[in-house]
Amino acid sequence: MILKNKKNKKENTKKSKAEKTKKTEDVKGGEKTKKTWSALRGMHDILPKEEKYWKSMYNTASKLAEYMQFSRIETPILEEASLFVRSIGKGTDVVEKEMYLFEDNDGSKVCLRPEATASVVRAYVTDGLWNNPQPVKMWYWGPMFRHDRPQAGRYRQFTQVGFENIGVLDPAADAELILIAFNFYKDLNLPVEIHINSIGTPEERERYKNELLNYYRTKKSYLCEECRKRMVKNPLRLLDCKEEQCQGVKEEAPQIIDWLSEASKSYFMKVLEYLDELGVPYILRPSLVRGLDYYTHTVFEVYPVSGEGAAQSALGGGGRYDLLVEEMGGKSTPAAGMALGVDRSVIYMKDYYQQNQLRVEKDPYDIFFAQLGDRAKGRAMKILEELRKSNIKIAFNLYKNSLKTQLDIANDLKVPYALILGQKEVQEGTIIIRDMESGIQEIVDQKKIENALKKKLKKFDELAK
Ligand code: AMP
Repeated sequence: MILKNKKNKKENTKKSKAEKTKKTEDVKGGEKTKKTWSALRGMHDILPKEEKYWKSMYNTASKLAEYMQFSRIETPILEEASLFVRSIGKGTDVVEKEMYLFEDNDGSKVCLRPEATASVVRAYVTDGLWNNPQPVKMWYWGPMFRHDRPQAGRYRQFTQVGFENIGVLDPAADAELILIAFNFYKDLNLPVEIHINSIGTPEERERYKNELLNYYRTKKSYLCEECRKRMVKNPLRLLDCKEEQCQGVKEEAPQIIDWLSEASKSYFMKVLEYLDELGVPYILRPSLVRGLDYYTHTVFEVYPVSGEGAAQSALGGGGRYDLLVEEMGGKSTPAAGMALGVDRSVIYMKDYYQQNQLRVEKDPYDIFFAQLGDRAKGRAMKILEELRKSNIKIAFNLYKNSLKTQLDIANDLKVPYALILGQKEVQEGTIIIRDMESGIQEIVDQKKIENALKKKLKKFDELAK
């Protein structure tokens, strides 16, 4: 490293001291100990072999967003902790048990975001997005953090893709979000079920909560430990209980739909009508209430069809949150949104594709570029650089020297043509184009490679049509 100034020099000296210390630490009792690091519990690496799934999910989401006119928003990963306490609500698992909380250097409480809706609403309020034409439709893709008990499909760092529509109260907006969720999986060839319910306004919900509590009080002796706690902390979550012993009580419980006003009911019916019209299949699930405090009216979740294991849990969910913008300090503004879990969707995709012998199609290569000898390697790099913007998809391996090995790779990749550059061609300023099927070879001038290849490759004819 070249030292440019005194500061750099100082840093460099510091670094080498640290390195020296590390070395001493590594030598214990005269023997070198080697330490390796695994990812933290609940965090996982997304390896290159998984990239094709992640990429197809990202591309699918981004195309849908563009078509449905959602613009991309990126908010910070670190936020003031109170943002989530206020929006998600005390008494929820996310706030009570799962937040990654830190004290910042100035003593303020910050946390790694457990979800992004609150952040998007914060941005809507503080960045003045309410001044823009309404509604403001935004989408995001990024990591979320919940200090949950790790298990299959449940991580401490996971990725969500989300869509938020802020500024309009219209059943069409709710239906549009559900359609996006449905189409996301449909475009990936993954069958899903949409579970849907309405939880009305906070007043309606409050009346229903009391009714639910009255009912559960009479059944207390049949309930699991967790449900007894839920009765005090968050009665609506009683309906989320998965324990066998509580299922009977849950099935007989009063249903929120019976406690909704006529206005709330007809809003919900309109959402369902739109879904019928769009051909989006859904299942009415009266016990669906979603975990977070901020929801109103429509709530929904997306499930894999007949999933097993990790694939049995929800892939995503969302709903309307008409009170959140005001709660976050803005004007009273209706809004709706949803988030899909990408890690869990990838698990489902892998399982489903394997079971149904589906493949994630990668864009095939057009050409393999083989080179022979030292001078050819340098020239090959130069030609590859010249062809970079040509739209011709070229595979190459500069570290293999044998022509046979390189042509074997070309065969494996099923490319229709290979370019071959040896010492002789370098000297003559030419290159060989080999038809991989017939083995027929043609020599062309290096200056004319791009045109010669484009003439041969069918895709360029089709593009020109
Ligand atoms: P939620 O808003 O909590 O319902 O989360 C929406 C989606 O994010 C879920 O349906 C999951 O697919 C995903 N998700 C939530 N928590 C986790 C987690 N701990 N690990 C992996 N994915 C998660």
